[in-house]
Amino acid sequence: MQRRAFMTGAGAATVALGAGIGTAEAKAEHKWKMVTTWPKNFPGLGTGANKLAELIGEMSGGRIEVKVYGAKELVPAFEVFDAVARGTAEMGHGAAYYWKGKSEAAQFFSTVPFGMTAQEMNGWLYHGGGMELWSELYGQFGLVPAPAGNTGVQMGGWFNKEINSVEDLQGLKMRIPGLGGEVLKRAGGTPVNLPGGELFTSLQSGAIDATEWVGPYNDLAFGLYKAAKYYYYPGWHEPGTTLEAMINKQVFDELPKDLQSIVTNACKVVNQDMLAEYTARNPAALQTLLTEHEVELRRYPDDVLRRLRELSEEVVAEIAEKDAFSQKTYTSYRKFLKQSKEWGAVSDLVYLQARDQG
Ligand code: CA
Repeated sequence: MQRRAFMTGAGAATVALGAGIGTAEAKAEHKWKMVTTWPKNFPGLGTGANKLAELIGEMSGGRIEVKVYGAKELVPAFEVFDAVARGTAEMGHGAAYYWKGKSEAAQFFSTVPFGMTAQEMNGWLYHGGGMELWSELYGQFGLVPAPAGNTGVQMGGWFNKEINSVEDLQGLKMRIPGLGGEVLKRAGGTPVNLPGGELFTSLQSGAIDATEWVGPYNDLAFGLYKAAKYYYYPGWHEPGTTLEAMINKQVFDELPKDLQSIVTNACKVVNQDMLAEYTARNPAALQTLLTEHEVELRRYPDDVLRRLRELSEEVVAEIAEKDAFSQKTYTSYRKFLKQSKEWGAVSDLVYLQARDQG
């Protein structure tokens, strides 16, 4: 406390001196590093993290300054969680399913196969009890979580052979993280987890047979169409992936209330804005893939989707058996999704059919 009082005194003296020589602009009181699981400046994901950093700076009038680091610049993609927990960086941006090694329940806070859409995730997290659970889980690791982006429904992935039946998944070596990977494994495939930056070369070299990434906007940017012929839909495994910000809990708790609110609400803005960006960019990118790059679009056959859905239900239900917290999260998620399906059956589902299919 004494040290703090001294620092404040010194800070005040510096401001007074600064003002005296005509440099009155606000000086950053908090200089943060934000480590991310994305390649630096990557469209949508990386730029979303950049936007979050800028917004925190702007909204705080420069009192918090956030410098963004792409994957591998400060720490590798899959070390972001630990880096923020131990305070190497004050903040991180990633996706909760990357941390299933910490807790299986983390996956519910990004996406689960055949689970909630972006709209439903936001409803559950902000107003359906999801945030309370997420905060409880990350709090155990010394982290404060916040939704900070959503990709909307993803695409099924890039393949070099057609998938005409469940048998075609046998032996398929595919980059597909998290629960989607576990489902593929039960369907006979071999899931691989690789960070985004390694997808193209792995697919092109034949180290993997197939990969999913995000959707047209991001997949076009990675040039995945140059390494695979068929583009499958829908992204059954990631129906509305929530991206996350995480803040070192001690750092967050020591902020004054106004700055805490600025950080939390900047995340909320970016969460909504990224979804709007994907909603705007995906259609145009899909057109480019189809017309300029002659990508062959394929729908997963109904019986393949049916089998993947059955396996997904098993896999997701098994998370609940891991520990009491996972059980509690699964119960909350399922209850919300059940109600949302009932509402969707008389709203979005029927409306979109009526609007788009005559
Ligand atoms: Ca994905």
